Amino acid sequence: PYRFRGRHITVAGLGVSGVPAARALHGLGAHVTVVNDGDDDRARTQAAELERLGITVRLGEQAASTLPEGTELVVTAPGWNPGKPLFAAAAQAGVPIWGDVELAWRLRGPGAPPWLAVTGTNGKTTTVRMLASILEAAGLRTAAVGNIGVSLLDAVLGDEQYDVLAVELSSYQLHWSSSLRAHSAAVLNLAPDHLDWHGSMEAYAADKGRVYEGNRIACVYNADATDKPSTEDLVREADVEEGCRAVGFTLGTPGPSQVGVVDGILVDRAFVEDRQGSAQELAEVTDVDPPAPHNIANALAAAALARAYGVPAAAVRDGLRAFTPDAHRIAHVADVDEVAYVDDSKATNTHAAQASLAAYESIVWIAGGLAKGATFDELVASSAKRLRGVVLIGADRALIREALARHAPEVPVVDLDRTDTGAMLQAVQEAKRLARPGDTVLLAPACASMDMFANYNRRGEAFAQAVRELGA
Ligand code: ADP
Repeated sequence: PYRFRGRHITVAGLGVSGVPAARALHGLGAHVTVVNDGDDDRARTQAAELERLGITVRLGEQAASTLPEGTELVVTAPGWNPGKPLFAAAAQAGVPIWGDVELAWRLRGPGAPPWLAVTGTNGKTTTVRMLASILEAAGLRTAAVGNIGVSLLDAVLGDEQYDVLAVELSSYQLHWSSSLRAHSAAVLNLAPDHLDWHGSMEAYAADKGRVYEGNRIACVYNADATDKPSTEDLVREADVEEGCRAVGFTLGTPGPSQVGVVDGILVDRAFVEDRQGSAQELAEVTDVDPPAPHNIANALAAAALARAYGVPAAAVRDGLRAFTPDAHRIAHVADVDEVAYVDDSKATNTHAAQASLAAYESIVWIAGGLAKGATFDELVASSAKRLRGVVLIGADRALIREALARHAPEVPVVDLDRTDTGAMLQAVQEAKRLARPGDTVLLAPACASMDMFANYNRRGEAFAQAVRELGA
C-alpha cells in the first residue's frame, strides 16, 4: 500500500473531486498543495475552507501550470486536460499522476467491497442505478457510486459498510487510473464523444478499455455493436485474471456466454451452472422502465454484472421492477390532446438522441443547442422516416437544419431563431401545432444545453413547465 504520511502531494483542481481529495490526503498526514486555474468567488471560498485546515492553495492560471517544488505525487480532477503544462512538468520530473478513481482505489482498506464497474458513452448512470437496485433486491448492502448518488471517496472512506459497489466510471477517470482491478466491468457502447480531450477515437476507446484490465470474474461487452473498435475488441486486448470470462449482451437471441432477449424475456446463457447450454429466465422486457431498446440493453448489462456477482434470477427481476429512471432521461411528462410529451434533455450527444428517437414511431422532435463539434447526418438519416416534424432551438441549430435538408427534405421544420430561455415555451407550442394524435413530442436535443440553460436539468424543467402551460 502507498504511504501518504509526510508525502508532498499536489491536488490539481478544487471542486467536487479536488476538495474531498485534498481533505482526505491531509487527514492521512500528507503535505497537500491544491492548484486551481480559476480564481473566482467559488474557488476563493473553497480555498479559504481548505486553508483553515492547513492546506496550501494556489489559485490562477500561472499557479495551475507550475508543479510545486518537492511534489511526489499529483492527484488530478478527472476533467483536467492531459495536455496541461502541469502534467508535462510532472512527467518530466518522474512524478506519478493519479485521478480521483486511482486515489479512491488506493485508499480502500483491507476487506473493502469489490467494485462492479460500468463505463460507456451513454447509459452509465442508468445502468449503475439499475445494478444497485438489483443488488439491493438480493439483500446486499450496496450503493450506486459516481455521478449520481454516493461519491467515490465517500464510498471508500465513509462509515457506511458495503458488500459490493456499483461504480460509474467516465473515460476521463479511467484515463488517470492504472491499478484499478474490478470484480467485473461493462463497457456499454462506444460512440465519438469528448474526442477533443482524448485526442482520437482510438485513444478514447483505449481509455474506456482500461476498465477491463485485471477483471477477475467477467468482462461484459456489447455484442450488438458494429463500431470499430468494438467493446469486444477491448475485452480481447485487456489483460485479465485467469478464468475471467467475456460475456456479451444482445437484444437478440443470446449465444453461449451471453445474455439476451427471447420472446420478450431477458435470458441468461452465461451464468447458468447446471446444464450445458441451458438458459435462465431473468425478467420480462416490460419489467424495464422505459422498455426502449437502448434501455433494455442497459438492463441486460446490469443483469450480467449482477449475475457475475452471483445474484439469483429473481433478484434481477425484482431489482428491475423496483427501478425508476432518473429525471430528464426519456421521462414522460404528460399527454395533451392524445400527444405524449417526453423529456430526454439528458440526450446531450447524437448517440443518445439516436437511442430515444429509435424508441418512438411518429415524432415531433425538439432539438438543438451546442453541438460540440458533432455532425448530424447519420442521426437525421436514420430517424427521418419517424419524424412528423422538427422544431429547432439553440446556437448550433443550423447544423441540424442542413442535415435535415439533405436527408429529410419533406419533413416540416420550424427554426426558432432565438436562444433565450423563453424559446422553450414557443418550441413546445410549435411542436403541438405539428403533432397529430398518437404522436410523441420528444425533447432529445443531441446537443449540450449551455447556450440557453445552466445545464440539462434546467432545459428539461423548462420543457416540462412549457408542457404544463399547454395543458392548462
Ligand atoms: P450517462 O451516465 O452515460 O450520461 P445516462 O444513463 O445518464 O448516461 O443516459 C444519458 C442519455 O443517454 C439518456 O437520456 C438517453 O438518451 C441515452 N442513453 C441511455 N442509455 C443508452 C444506451 N445504452 N445507448 C444509447 N443511448 C443511451
